[in-house]
Order: sequence, then C-alpha cells, then structure tokens
Amino acid sequence: MNIDFTKGNGLVPVIIQDETNFQVLMLGFMNEEAYNKTVLEQKVTFFSRTKNRLWTKGESSGNFLRVKNIQLDCDNDTLLIQVKADGSTCHTGSVSCFNTNSSKGFLYQLEQTIHQRIDENTETSYTNKLYKRGINKVAQKVGEEAVELVIEAKDNNTDLFKNEAADLLYHFLILLKAKGFTLEDIEQVLCKRNK
Ligand code: AMP
Ligand code: ZN
Ligand code: ZN
Ligand code: ZN
Repeated sequence: MNIDFTKGNGLVPVIIQDETNFQVLMLGFMNEEAYNKTVLEQKVTFFSRTKNRLWTKGESSGNFLRVKNIQLDCDNDTLLIQVKADGSTCHTGSVSCFNTNSSKGFLYQLEQTIHQRIDENTETSYTNKLYKRGINKVAQKVGEEAVELVIEAKDNNTDLFKNEAADLLYHFLILLKAKGFTLEDIEQVLCKRNK
C-alpha cells in the first residue's frame, strides 16, 4: 500500500470502523512502523502521540481491534480500517469514542448473531431450533408474524405494533439465512431498483 506519510510528519490519521454495523469506533494515528505491525499481526497498532511510542490498542485492556479490511482514501493520506472489536473500544467503557448513541445498523449485528447460533448449532437457541425445522416452517413463521403485524397495524397500540414489526424482521433474517442469502443481498436488489 502506497501511503503518503509526508503531510503529517510521518503520521497518517486512521479511522476505525466496525465492519458489521459500520459504526465509527475511534480515530488514531499510525507511522509506517505501526502500519507494518498492524498488517503483520492483523491487530491495530497506532503511534500514540501522548505516549510517544507504538501503542497496540488493547495492550492493557485486552480490547484488541482485529483487522478485517484496510483502505486508503483518494489521495493516500488517510486510512480506513474496518475491524471486529473485542469489547469496548473507548477507555471509558463505551463501544465507541464518539457518542452517536444510535441503534442504526443493529440489524447487521443481529444477523451475525443469528448466523452464529445456526453455524455453531447452539442447542439452547430458539433461532437454531426453528432453523432446524426447515425452510417451510421458517417461512410459515414469517407469514404468521406478517399477519400479526397487519392486525396490529389496524389497532392503535404502538408498543404491540413495534414488537410485531421486530418479530417480522427477526424471522425474516432467519428465512434469508435458510435460503442462503444475506440482508446485504436484498439491499443490493433495492439499491439497483433505485438507480
Ligand atoms: P488499551 O490500549 O485499551 O489497553 O488502553 C491503554 C490506555 O490507552 C488506556 O489506559 C487509555 O489511556 C488509552 N486508551 C485506550 N483506548 C483509547 C481510546 N479509544 N482513545 C484514546 N485513548 C485510549
Ligand atoms: Zn486524503
Ligand atoms: Zn475514547
Ligand atoms: Zn409476533
């Protein structure tokens, strides 16, 4: 990767983003040595301007940032690294250093959890038990939840309506998995339609 370290006196800013829900977790700086160590270990190492040394995020907390994907920006002076974070990224205990406090993107986290339960064949999991009953049963559940949502749509209980909407999305994700598709596959279809 041809990174331009000259503009920042040997340092480039590095945006750290959660690879699943796209949440921005933190921003740090890297020199060439930190970058090389990061690539080698597939765990993020910064150059800390306060410590004035290489700093592997998680070195004392154990909350490492595991590299999934590294990208340079248009003029090669900024990095975007998508990660799987072990635990909280901020030293305050928050998931992110930026207090965005949003549930947006959680559907992707839920999808990951659903896939985990199924792929690891978790015996106690409702998700896994339903999945193992086969596509027809899963599809039937989606139908039932859709009908329940329609019924609540005619009513005025917002709490019940929201809960049925959630039930539908959850079962919909299991059906996608059963058919071998991901949420992103469906977003792609919608995206193309929009062009
Ligand atoms: P850690 O790298 O998670 O083991 O944390 C080591 C030290 O780095 C902490 O005690 C903080 O001083 C600092 N630190 C950890 N995480 C962050 C962060 N996201 N932003 C700024 N400083 C941090
Ligand atoms: Zn740039
Ligand atoms: Zn922080
Ligand atoms: Zn329901």
